[in-house]
Amino acid sequence: MSITTNIETLQKELQPIGVTLVAVSKTKPVEDIQEAYDAGQRVFGENMVQEMMEKYESLPKDISWHLIGHLQTNKVKFIAPFVSLIESVDSIKLLKEIDKHGGKHNRVIDCLLQVYIADEDTKFGLDHAELIELLRDDEFTALKHVRIRGLMGIATNTDNEKVIKDEFYELKMLFDGIKASFYRQEDSFSILSMGMSSDYQLAIENGSNMVRLGSTIFGKRVIKHYKNKDAEH
Ligand SMILES: *Cc1c(COP(=O)(O)O)cnc(C)c1O
Repeated sequence: MSITTNIETLQKELQPIGVTLVAVSKTKPVEDIQEAYDAGQRVFGENMVQEMMEKYESLPKDISWHLIGHLQTNKVKFIAPFVSLIESVDSIKLLKEIDKHGGKHNRVIDCLLQVYIADEDTKFGLDHAELIELLRDDEFTALKHVRIRGLMGIATNTDNEKVIKDEFYELKMLFDGIKASFYRQEDSFSILSMGMSSDYQLAIENGSNMVRLGSTIFGKRVIKHYKNKDAEH
């Protein structure tokens, strides 16, 4: 199947149910992204800052770029002028840095808080207690150039559907709770980003409204699997 067909098929499936498709283009050449763009796709996800900057430079300027990988504070400045959503915020320190650079560019940068839901040994994402602590932190509430649009999570990489389903369900419950407690008045807190190629249907059944799909659209990646923890080092 071609990239064009994949985009068209997915958008036909996702648009009517209000689910945003993030085309995860990491490791893929600009030609592939251009083909997806020509098929109507406008939202793309990258996990490395340098790669995202290069692609931003050479591709149409109406693309919405989502950063979906771990972000180091010293690299925020490179993407602050153009990034449309940082999906992987996992600390107050990082938020403060994003806020600082948002201020410099006179913009409010949209972010998702990444929540740790997987039964796996990954070091990224906030647990429930850390999430609540962050939302209550005076330093956080004082920030003017970041806006929290919702939550993001990555389920365990397993064939066991029950495990994945429980993790998505847990994140949806958490999302609803956070919304009710902290963002009742704000319509902008509305994004629940969960689901990748292997599990996006399960994610949608459990309340996701943003899915991040790479291999389903562009085919398998031969290098740099997303679990490569050295990716941003
Ligand atoms: C790579 C990646 C994806 C896409 O993975 P596929 O299995 O190719 O769909 C989604 N989310 C994150 C955070 C990723 O790093």
